[in-house]
Amino acid sequence: MTENDTLQEEEWKEKLTEEQYRVLRLKGTERPFTGKYWNNKQKGIYYCAGCGTPLFDSSSKFESGCGWPSFSNPIKDSKIKEETDINFNMRRTEVLCEKCGGHLGHVFKDGPKPMGLRYCINSISLDFTPKNKDEK
Ligand code: FE
Repeated sequence: MTENDTLQEEEWKEKLTEEQYRVLRLKGTERPFTGKYWNNKQKGIYYCAGCGTPLFDSSSKFESGCGWPSFSNPIKDSKIKEETDINFNMRRTEVLCEKCGGHLGHVFKDGPKPMGLRYCINSISLDFTPKNKDEK
């Protein structure tokens, strides 16, 4: 168990902004085209806004037109977990941070080839760090 695994909900409320808490802990969704990263084209890494785990690399980001940052794959499969979500009369696959259990978004099977997956992720669940241009 890590420190983040044992954070109680009250601690999450203190650590996160109200909107981050609503999405990450209460499985909310930000409105499309309002988040800070759906149109971000910089190179870099997207970390979990809850616990700082690296989740997605900009190299897997693509323009889906849906209004949320969309990725064809996570940095590593082991960094995320997926669960069936049957809320709102839909059968969807929820994507969560493996480490802190934070809600990230959903994965759909209409992504680009070859994987054919679209990880549709709330901007507010992510913290982006641009790659240092001097690094290779
Ligand atoms: Fe996390």
